[in-house]
This record gives sequence, C-alpha cells and structure tokens, in this order.
Amino acid sequence: MFLKDYIGTVVKSTKSLLKGMKLTGHYFIHQEKILTEEYPDNRDTLVMFDRFKGEVTMPHDENNEHRCTGCQACEIACPNGTIKIITKQELQPDGKKKKALDTFVYHLELCTLCNMCISACPSDAIKMGQTFEHSVYDKRQLKKSLNKPGSKLMEGVE
Ligand code: SF4
Ligand code: SF4
Repeated sequence: MFLKDYIGTVVKSTKSLLKGMKLTGHYFIHQEKILTEEYPDNRDTLVMFDRFKGEVTMPHDENNEHRCTGCQACEIACPNGTIKIITKQELQPDGKKKKALDTFVYHLELCTLCNMCISACPSDAIKMGQTFEHSVYDKRQLKKSLNKPGSKLMEGVE
C-alpha cells in the first residue's frame, strides 16, 4: 500500500514537472510570444512613466549651460536639508559683480522625492530624472553636484 502510494506520488510529481518544463521550453523557443517583461532583462529598453520621480536633476544644453541662478529658493523649500547651494561672485562685462551658482550639492540619500524644490524653482532649472538604480556600497557616492564641471548660466535667464 505504502509502495503504491509512493510510486503514485513520484509519477504525479514527474508529470507536473514535465508539464512546467514543457511550458518553459515553449517560451524559450518562442520568445516573441512572451507577454511579461522582467527587470533587469529589459533594462536597455525600459522607459519609466512620465510622472516617475527618480532623483532631482539639472538639465544642461549642448553648450553645457543650465538655468540655475543660485537663488537658493529650492534649498529653502526643501524640508530636510537635501540641497546646499554654494554661490560665488562673477564679474560682469559692466564691471559689477553678480551672484552665480558655484555648486548645487544634492544629497540623494536624504531626498524623499517630494518635488517641493522643483515647484519652488523660479527658473525651471531642475526636474525629476527617471533613473532609479541608485544602490551604492559607499553612501558618499550619493552626494552629487548637479551642475556639470565648467557649466554656466544660460544667456537670458535672470
Ligand atoms: S525632492 Fe523634496 S526632499 Fe528631495 S531635494 Fe527636493 S525638496 Fe528636498
Ligand atoms: S535650482 Fe532653481 S531654485 Fe534652486 S538655486 Fe537654482 S534657480 Fe534657484
């Protein structure tokens, strides 16, 4: 009786295993029929939806120019000290000095992606990026400078 039950269980399990393997084999051969996408296999083609908030970024144009005046409105709006705006004085053609952005320091490890800094910016200088692979072994790597080296303020932005 025991042996009969045992053999029955083995046969049943083997049938179930073969059924699963048949399905796996079918989709392995006919990959065009796969309906679901799995990360990270689709990493190269994955496009996040428009409203996704990955991290605060500062767009630069092809001339390495950004729209940040260094006004600090984003720093003031941020509820948890994620942003530190370091400014400098730049000499203007008329000989006067004007405040300008030196470094936009952004602590991704503190950011809650609340969007308040972006809403507060009067120059439309920052926006949410769609990146989301932020894991690092050393959290110091999450401290970023959003303005690129050598970049400057776009002409016409006050
Ligand atoms: S998204 Fe929110 S938490 Fe992050 S830097 Fe902007 S204001 Fe601060
Ligand atoms: S990002 Fe916007 S709000 Fe922040 S310092 Fe630059 S111009 Fe001002």
